[in-house]
Amino acid sequence: MPELEVIIGLEVHAQMSTKTKMFCGCDNDAFGKKPNTTVCPICMGHPGTLPTPNATAIEKAIKASLAIQCSINMSNHFDRKHYFYPDLPMGFQISQYDFPLSSKGTVTYDVFDPSGNVVESKVCGITRLHMENDAGKLTHKGSTTLCDYNRAGTPLMEIVTEPDLRSAQDAVSFAQELRRILIAVDASEADMFKGMMRFDASISLREKGTEKLNPRSEIKNLNSFKSLERALQYEEKRLRKRWETDGPLPGDITVGWLDDEGKTKMLRNKETADDYRYFPEPDIPPIEFKQKDIDAIAKTLPKLPRELKEEYMKLGLDEKQSLQLIDQSQLQTMFNALREKTDAKRASSLVLTQLLGFLNAADKEVAEGPDADAMLELVGKIDDGTISGNAGKDVLEKMVNTGKNASTIIEEEGMQQISDDSAIEDLVTKAMEANPKAIEDFKAGKEAALGAIVGFVMKESKGQADPKKVNEILRKNLKN
Ligand code: ZN
Ligand code: MN
Repeated sequence: MPELEVIIGLEVHAQMSTKTKMFCGCDNDAFGKKPNTTVCPICMGHPGTLPTPNATAIEKAIKASLAIQCSINMSNHFDRKHYFYPDLPMGFQISQYDFPLSSKGTVTYDVFDPSGNVVESKVCGITRLHMENDAGKLTHKGSTTLCDYNRAGTPLMEIVTEPDLRSAQDAVSFAQELRRILIAVDASEADMFKGMMRFDASISLREKGTEKLNPRSEIKNLNSFKSLERALQYEEKRLRKRWETDGPLPGDITVGWLDDEGKTKMLRNKETADDYRYFPEPDIPPIEFKQKDIDAIAKTLPKLPRELKEEYMKLGLDEKQSLQLIDQSQLQTMFNALREKTDAKRASSLVLTQLLGFLNAADKEVAEGPDADAMLELVGKIDDGTISGNAGKDVLEKMVNTGKNASTIIEEEGMQQISDDSAIEDLVTKAMEANPKAIEDFKAGKEAALGAIVGFVMKESKGQADPKKVNEILRKNLKN
């Protein structure tokens, strides 16, 4: 058997985060809305209606293009892609074909080992990014099918990669980096749970050392990183097994992924472009950009995830911590807010170790926990000496569990640190009387003996004495 190489390419559909749909003024946020309530004659394809391209959608697609290093095609246009489907009210999709918005880009991504360390950095070529509108949604119930057209007309970016990925792990690592980029430039929320990012994955095999691409199997509509990985692993195994007896596939095929059964299912021989009868969309004039408009948009691009990761790592965070911040914007906001008051190490420990730990233990999402302001208040209470750092941990845990803020919890539980000098003075005197041996030891040169006295005071005060003050007063007394 010759050694085989896996060739994978992805087509990624990402929903753009606009207020309105691609070609009409309908609400683009259909999540949780009653079926068929965010529709109008335009997105329902009624006769006599005309589509108007959404300028914000085009701008967001340009931002995404620039972030993945694609060149903008200064003249491009929309095309009609014809096929019949019950969830496609116009009877065609408005997409882009031979003149896409942008082409020829690259994405650099890291491949991780199971413990989260970077094994290597790789580059995946991007063939093109084009704009199009989404179809509606079908729900099959027994022998009936229900159509919900709320999603029909939602603006999509389709990003097509070169066949540069060499394993399911590569594909997932690339897709995760792409998702980070789209979120960072505010082109898409890319919420996988809401189906805002979907993958079609093409896979084929060839003998190592050969150049020719063999016919591929295209796995349709994968909507999570887990299913992307499992489907590719399954299909790779299947194609390898087939190769032993029959060699490569005789022609391109399209398959579906059955998540519950963990296997792919043959759908059809793949359509070619000819089948779609593409032609330029006659109702929308061609798009012409001026370089100065593209330059203006380029200036609004924020730092990209890789840059941001490098910055966090320079602050002393590790790979995993940096990605946690980049992947969860609420944690990032919190970390940045805390950074104004304290150093990076303490901020990351508060957010990524303590807060995430308590949230996990309580089985809560980040959104259900304290926000940046609540965290700032807690840090303020520790820094002004109201509570000790240790008590701060208990307060944070209670904040997560009860939703109350730090000052309420400190008040209700009487957790204020005792920093009143005369109260501590009394406690220290009592502790010194109770530990004559420790004082003798200290005077004989045993510095560590003081620990016993401080411990006594902390115990007597139920942990509420300010240890700094206790030490201070104790040393002063011993000098006398
Ligand atoms: Zn509409
Ligand atoms: Mn598409």
